[in-house]
Amino acid sequence: MTTPISQPHRKPDLCAMSDNSAPGGKQTSSWIETPAHSDFPIQNIPFGIASAKDRAAHPCTRIGDTVVDLGALAKAGLLSDLGIAPEAFQTTSLNALMRHGKPAMRKLRQRLGELLSADNGTLRNDAATRTAALLPVADCTLHLPIEVGDYTDFYSSREHAFNVGTMFRGPENALMPNWLHLPVGYHGRASSIVASGTPLHRPKGQMRPKPDEPPVFGASKQMDFELETGFITFGGKPLGQHISVEEAEEHIFGMVLFNDWSARDIQSWEYVPLGPFLGKNFGSSMGAWVVTLDALEPFRTAQPEPEFQPLPYLQGHGKQAFDIALETVLTTPEGSETVISRSNFKHLYWSMAQQLAHHTVNGCNIRCGDLLASGTISAPDPSGYGSMLELSWRGTKPITLADGSERKFINDGDTITMRGHCEKDGLRIGFGEVKGTILPAL
Ligand code: CA
Repeated sequence: MTTPISQPHRKPDLCAMSDNSAPGGKQTSSWIETPAHSDFPIQNIPFGIASAKDRAAHPCTRIGDTVVDLGALAKAGLLSDLGIAPEAFQTTSLNALMRHGKPAMRKLRQRLGELLSADNGTLRNDAATRTAALLPVADCTLHLPIEVGDYTDFYSSREHAFNVGTMFRGPENALMPNWLHLPVGYHGRASSIVASGTPLHRPKGQMRPKPDEPPVFGASKQMDFELETGFITFGGKPLGQHISVEEAEEHIFGMVLFNDWSARDIQSWEYVPLGPFLGKNFGSSMGAWVVTLDALEPFRTAQPEPEFQPLPYLQGHGKQAFDIALETVLTTPEGSETVISRSNFKHLYWSMAQQLAHHTVNGCNIRCGDLLASGTISAPDPSGYGSMLELSWRGTKPITLADGSERKFINDGDTITMRGHCEKDGLRIGFGEVKGTILPAL
């Protein structure tokens, strides 16, 4: 395989980065071609798991449209002095790497940046290792990046909580009394989290479509998506100890795109009084690339002003949000694509640091590879609502797609694709996409 070597497409002055966020230090371009507007310039260096024909699944990174197999780099001895066990590069999830902790993962990302930098010839001039390590993303199968430990889902978008509360209880009582005091969440199901691209069957279950009549059993008629991101943790602290807001980000490996599929009719009947269950746990889709908080650092921004200061253990410290543009696309079975929502991670009322601080304030331990999802991220504007429930206002306002057809919820054969990226001063860092098709009920 030959690897295209091109002129760097970014101007150095546009890519000045802090050492914290630029793996490899000051380098600003790669000897590997990076298409304009790629989510994956050398400043990103995300982590994932990829396999290909005659090639086992290994930890990888991605630059432009090229996947870089860390297993091959490790075998060539290019990653041997980082304090990371060699076998961690030959596994089928990122967990073994993540167990080495944040300093080791920072060193690894730094090293990958150096090896891919335009001014470094170590890998560029090593044809055998280059051939073993680099392959086009189009030739790869991208897998679930981590073996998910525990999965927690929050409910941290004020706009989403307000919209849903308004639909079910009216605008006066939309937010429950606790909502502005704590990041509401529940424990989800890790076993049914699937890799991007995995189709899911429409779930069946018990519903009560007419309030005065007995419940019925059947395929959900209100299949929905939830536009979310998730963050993945390192090992945290032992049971009984608390992670503070100040410490929280040191325990976070990175973020992924996340679609928390929901069957609204099953959910609305079953959720009282203990919360989400079968309307949620039939499947959630995770993006292939874990983008580190270091890569997102240039896009750090303030979260929305709190209505009042929460209790001291939840008080924010500085800018804890990130400016990540998010979009959701519905593709019909015939192939017509419509962007149905444009939102942004920065709208979340509760930050990841506050979520993690709240999750552990009672001494609950987190483990390496836990996934904590944001909850549906709705924008203030109706064009940025993060679910069909809100976009069609519980089915009362069908949305019109590009081909003229209408949707209240998701039809069989529809594909939902979510994308996310940050962009500022000519630098773009993105997540790629998370995608899934809904198949008919079995
Ligand atoms: Ca959710």
